[in-house]
Formats: sequence, structure tokens, C-alpha cells
Amino acid sequence: MGCCRPLLSLPSLPAVSSIAMPASHPFQTHAFQTDDSRLLPIRDKVLAGERLNEADALALYGTGDILALGWLANWVRERMHGDKAYFNVNRHINPTNVCVAACRLCAFGRKKDAPGAYTMALEEAFSTAASGYTEAITEFHIVGGLHPDLPFEYFLDLVSGLKERFPQVHMKAFTMVEVAYLAKRAKLTIRETLEKMKQAGVDSLPGGGAEIFSDRVRHIICDHKIDGDQWLDTARLAHQIGLKSNATMLYGHIENDEDRVDHLLKLRALQDETGGFQTFIPLAFHPANTPLQHLFTTTGMLDIKQIAVSRLVLDNFAHVKSYWQMMTPKIAQISLRFGADDIDGTVVEEKIYHDAGATTPQGLRRHDLVRLIQEAGREPIERDTLYRPVTRTETSFTVSV
Ligand code: SF4
Repeated sequence: MGCCRPLLSLPSLPAVSSIAMPASHPFQTHAFQTDDSRLLPIRDKVLAGERLNEADALALYGTGDILALGWLANWVRERMHGDKAYFNVNRHINPTNVCVAACRLCAFGRKKDAPGAYTMALEEAFSTAASGYTEAITEFHIVGGLHPDLPFEYFLDLVSGLKERFPQVHMKAFTMVEVAYLAKRAKLTIRETLEKMKQAGVDSLPGGGAEIFSDRVRHIICDHKIDGDQWLDTARLAHQIGLKSNATMLYGHIENDEDRVDHLLKLRALQDETGGFQTFIPLAFHPANTPLQHLFTTTGMLDIKQIAVSRLVLDNFAHVKSYWQMMTPKIAQISLRFGADDIDGTVVEEKIYHDAGATTPQGLRRHDLVRLIQEAGREPIERDTLYRPVTRTETSFTVSV
């Protein structure tokens, strides 16, 4: 733990403002300093624990002073989590890439008869779940396309079959978009659909499909998907029946700062209402092999800034994740000093972003994640999906409840 971290001695800089860490903060760090005067009232609010508003969030996106922004986000992150940095041992399962939606942001979905389209038979999904990894996995992350023919029962049987074979593994399954689509196909309400999923063994929901809530942007990047309000309504219902979920935001395409702020504030408002979100995960857009491939990929500055702004604006989210698959392990590692407290998990086999040109590895070993975290000067904590610490021996693991 870094509670006795010494104050760094800094060269004297012509800072417009500097402020030492308040004595009540459990961690000590160098003084805050910035040459961007817009950050001064925001610093005061952050240190006083006051909520940031829309204008504050826009100022944070607008600053070029990434170190001052990072100082503020890191201050909040350390106040919430100290030096802890979380990861898990998980496996992604994408049962089908067949999808009716044809989102322009996507390189994963295929029409049914298109080259590369696949749908796993249930037995194939079960053997995929069991294959390719020797360390005990605590979570299956299950998402896929909106298949026009697969019945709702397929997805229920998938989850219940996995639960039967791997009773100790947490099932984080189906985005809000998939839930809404399956409800429509099964002619059920969203609540009924979620309840049936829960009965089958779904333990929580991932955060995908949120993209950007702005109608203007959504019409261009994913106009066949549910809209932002429907995504939020589905999340609300999931939380109401006791299913936690994550939330994401796809950034770095055609959205602007106002769209990003709108997205964050809508998530924050729903979290005030339900408390059902666990983790916010900003997802860097990967344009390769999508109809938007003329767009640039995100830069390191934007990735880091997105993490920091998220940490500062989403004051009611316990966790902000820097997902290494999207950001690269190196940026994810640095983000642990800019507001992130989680870098996701081992993944094992990732399809969605690799179809979109991601050059990161398909999976990382547990010890790779531990090394990334330790070299960032943080304390690695293996967690389960609900952020309970996992204790491992050579052959087994225990979740602390
Ligand atoms: S983003 Fe999801 S819903 Fe859209 S085309 Fe891809 S798989 Fe289908």
C-alpha cells in the first residue's frame, strides 16, 4: 500500500495555481498545478466532494493540461480505492456473429449467409467455454449478434447449460440491445425477458450497446439499434429486478464533447435512481473493417482524457475500467494513474474488436495483468464480477463474501 508515499520534490514551475493535498486525504502526492484557469474552480469542487456539472465536464474535455486533469482524477480514484487495481480471470464467449442490425460502427456482425458468419451449436459453446485456459475462470462474458432465427430458448439453454457445467462461474450475459431484441422476438416485455434470463442463470449484464446516446450520432453509427432512452430503460428494469450491469460509451468516432457529456450525465442520473451500475467502461472506437474506416483511431491523449473525465463526472460509479483490449495494455496501465481502478480480465479469446482491427493480443495471462498493475505502482486485486476479492491456491480459488 502506498499510504506513506513521500511528497515528490518538484522543480519550481510558473504554475498559475498550486495546492497541496488536504490532510484528510489518505494518500500524499505532489501539489496540484495548472496553467489552465478553467480547472481551478473544478479543482475546488473535486476537493470539496461537490458534483461537477455540464459546464465543468466540457471544460475538462477542453483542457490540454492532461497532467492537471489526471491529478484530479487520480485524487478521486485514490480516495475511493487507494492503491488497489482490479482485474479478473474471465473468458469471452460470442455465440454468434449473425446480426440483423448492420451498425456502421461494427466489424463483427454478419448477415446470415455472409462469409465468416457463424453460430455455435450449444455443445460447441459449452466446449468453447471449457477450452483454451487452465486457470479457473470466475466469469463468462457472453455477448453476440442479433440473430434473426435463433429462438429465445437457445439463449436460455446456453446460460442454463453453462451454469450446470460451471456452477461457480458468474454469467455476465447479454447487452441491453440483445435483451430488447430477444424480448421482441419472444413477444415478451423487457421485464419478463430479464426475469427469464435471471431464472436461467444470468447473474449480471455487461455494459455494451450503449454507444453514444445522442440521437444525431446514433442515427449515423447504429440506426437499427434501440435508441439511448430504450437502452437506459432496459438497464433500469434490469437493476429493478436485482441484476447489476456495467455501462459503456463508444468514443472517438463522430461524436463531439457535448455528446460525450450528455452520455455521462444520463448514466449518472440513472445511477442516482437505481444504484445498479457497477463499472463504467469507455470503449475506444476501432474503425478498421467497418463502414466508418475512413475515420482515425483514437490517440493516447484522448484515451487517457476519457478515463480521467469519466472518473470525475461519474461520482456515483464505484469503478472506471480501462479495458486493455480496446486501449492497449500500455495505455490501460498508464490509466491506472489517471482515474482507472480496473483493467478488465484475461478474456482468452476476443472477436468483436479484433474483427475491427485491434492489434492487441486475444487474451492475457493472469500474471501479465499482475505485472502491468504492479509496474504502475498499484496493488493487484483479483476480483470476481461483483468485485469480491478472489484468493487462489495452485488448484482452486475462493471468493470472499
Ligand atoms: S454492433 Fe452489435 S447490434 Fe450492431 S451490427 Fe454489430 S453485433 Fe449487431
